[in-house]
Amino acid sequence: GQCVRACPCGALDYVRERGDVFTAINDPDTVVVGFVAPAVRTVIAAEYGVPAVEASAFVAGMMKRVGFDKVFDVAFAADLTVIEETTEFLGRVRGGGVLPQLTSCCPGWVAWVERRWPDLIPHLSSCRSPQQMMGATVRNHVARHDGLEGRRVFVVSVMPCMAKKAEAARPEFAPDGVRDVDAVLTTTELLEMVQMLRLEPEDLVPAEFDAPYARTTGAGMLFGASGGVAEAALRMALEELTGERPESVDLHEVRGLEGFKEATVTAGGTTVRVAVVSGLRNVEDLAQRITAGEDVGYDLIEVMACPGGCINGAGQPVPRQVGQVAARQQVLLDIDEASVCRTSPGNTDLLRLYDDLYGTPNSETAHRLLHTTYAPVRR
Ligand code: SF4
Repeated sequence: GQCVRACPCGALDYVRERGDVFTAINDPDTVVVGFVAPAVRTVIAAEYGVPAVEASAFVAGMMKRVGFDKVFDVAFAADLTVIEETTEFLGRVRGGGVLPQLTSCCPGWVAWVERRWPDLIPHLSSCRSPQQMMGATVRNHVARHDGLEGRRVFVVSVMPCMAKKAEAARPEFAPDGVRDVDAVLTTTELLEMVQMLRLEPEDLVPAEFDAPYARTTGAGMLFGASGGVAEAALRMALEELTGERPESVDLHEVRGLEGFKEATVTAGGTTVRVAVVSGLRNVEDLAQRITAGEDVGYDLIEVMACPGGCINGAGQPVPRQVGQVAARQQVLLDIDEASVCRTSPGNTDLLRLYDDLYGTPNSETAHRLLHTTYAPVRR
């Protein structure tokens, strides 16, 4: 009704996809592949009282118990996004391209640009979101190997987000009429499925994410909170600009739940000025000034539609206590801190994927499968 018409990204047209997922799980001829975003585990850790460093294995085990045949971590695709997006960014910096570059991993923000600020489209990174990068990678890599050739593969993403439902349904992400991501479940929907199956906490046993994308980094994990994309991209940019892995990889200035943050980093003779915005109302002033042709003093701007980022997404249970969103952010920071590898180019499974399929960052194949284009939407 009114909600569907009022929703700026159209996500409410795709509210319930649980039934399709159960149907696929119950079909013995279908292989069901699921992948889960970083922010989802922050809620599940709190619901089940699981320490941050055990949250990833716990959610992988939960998804396997629900019936997914293969389970991957979207933090892996976040590393892929970091490599593609930072390569694009440094290309713009070195080659005089359109700056500031605006991040494109939040489909709520992308839909807002297409509707309200179409003149900003040349500033948007051409990178697809981690969800769509993961979907295209599963369809074009794992589904064609690993004994899955010729099988029906149903691809499900578990997200903290409603806008991801509309994003997965965009026609450009359904080459030859087959969607890269068949269904998107929210965190709440996954938890409902656990309840519908009457799974008790003792039924849920931690498990590993599956090969060939089992490895993740702390950088990819940060995507779930505001500032995380910028911090992960800056970690890689520092490495690229200096030719060395940075000694300290913490960028405290861009962390936290404020609607606007900024940081300046100088490395290898290049200065990168970053702004981080969360909550769409906080981007209005910047968007207006960039549209007017003003130099706003930033090279890279991260925008997340939800205040605080995906940890506070519309697919997560509504926070009921003060400090709950901050606690969700802390889960991601703790996982990052405890990670063996904290920069995306250090992800060895990802390097193997480049060898197997994508070649080099921003290659022709990468552009075909991991990047996209945008168009103004006239209302
Ligand atoms: Fe979705 Fe909100 Fe995250 Fe954007 S910030 S991707 S709308 S949950």
